[in-house]
Amino acid sequence: MAIPSATEFVEKLRPAGGRRSGKRDFIVNVFLRQEGHISAEHLVDLIRRDDARISRATIYRTLQWMVDAGIARRVDFGEGRFRFEHSYRHPRHFHLICKSCNQSFEFLSSDIETLVEEVAAARHFAARQSVLQIYGTCEACSTGQVTSPASAPTDAVFARDALRIAVATERSGREFYARAAKMTRDARGRQIFDRLASEEGDHLGKLEARYRELLADNPGLESQPTFLFFKGAANGLFAAGTEELKKGVDDREALLIGIRCERGSHRFFKRYGERFEESEGKRIFLEFADEEREHLDLLIREYRSLVAREGRPGRKGAAGSGRKTRSA
Ligand SMILES: [Zn+2]
Ligand SMILES: [Zn+2]
Repeated sequence: MAIPSATEFVEKLRPAGGRRSGKRDFIVNVFLRQEGHISAEHLVDLIRRDDARISRATIYRTLQWMVDAGIARRVDFGEGRFRFEHSYRHPRHFHLICKSCNQSFEFLSSDIETLVEEVAAARHFAARQSVLQIYGTCEACSTGQVTSPASAPTDAVFARDALRIAVATERSGREFYARAAKMTRDARGRQIFDRLASEEGDHLGKLEARYRELLADNPGLESQPTFLFFKGAANGLFAAGTEELKKGVDDREALLIGIRCERGSHRFFKRYGERFEESEGKRIFLEFADEEREHLDLLIREYRSLVAREGRPGRKGAAGSGRKTRSA
């Protein structure tokens, strides 16, 4: 499925019975070409510069129509008027707002989103939308140094950050499997870990190639500030697994740790990726989730056959050490 064009995007969101109109399409198209957050007044100026016959009332009505249809998001930066941003190839995000220059900067954090979900769930609250706005002074205003203006669209920055996260996870996965292969005594188990280490190496090569392509297509992309922040999320899973291996574990425990890491990684990327609108970044997350799923299945099969070869499960392995072993 290709990423939809702006027209397809609008068609999909057009409410049932919504008529097409030349004026409205014109306004929508002008709006979708704007990056950033514009006021209704600014949109009126842009439209009427091109076509003075379109009335202010029509533009305001169309803006409201776009908000209702999910094409536009209304944001309130505390200036006493709303601003609007479009949602086409523009992932959800939070805002940093500079009170000196009135510029806003977008970011997203998986850790904040996870926390918000936890709070909502604990209060049995059906959350629909979270708005987070941080007011203060931007780097340029506080240091006087001019920072380079955004030269790449948000969806490219989002794809860049998704790739960086996938690459980091792949690297720590490869390190985990290389270490597990070294310490595993069971010959078949060692083979599996070796195979996984080299698969992670292959994936890593592909992800890095994709990263280079993205940079080539979007000059200046690498120097854009981070959009997507990940701290705990999936990044630390394999690193924590490697620490556990260092304590000295047997073959079964090594497999169980691998299973836990892959399962956590698969779930995280799938769940997180599914919630984004169609975009390159979403694809990167979902494809990565599929790869982790394959590794998970492989490890589970191997764990079962190791248990079958060695006899009863958990005699001296994972279950015997008092560690909780959910059925693999
Ligand atoms: Zn500023
Ligand atoms: Zn925004």
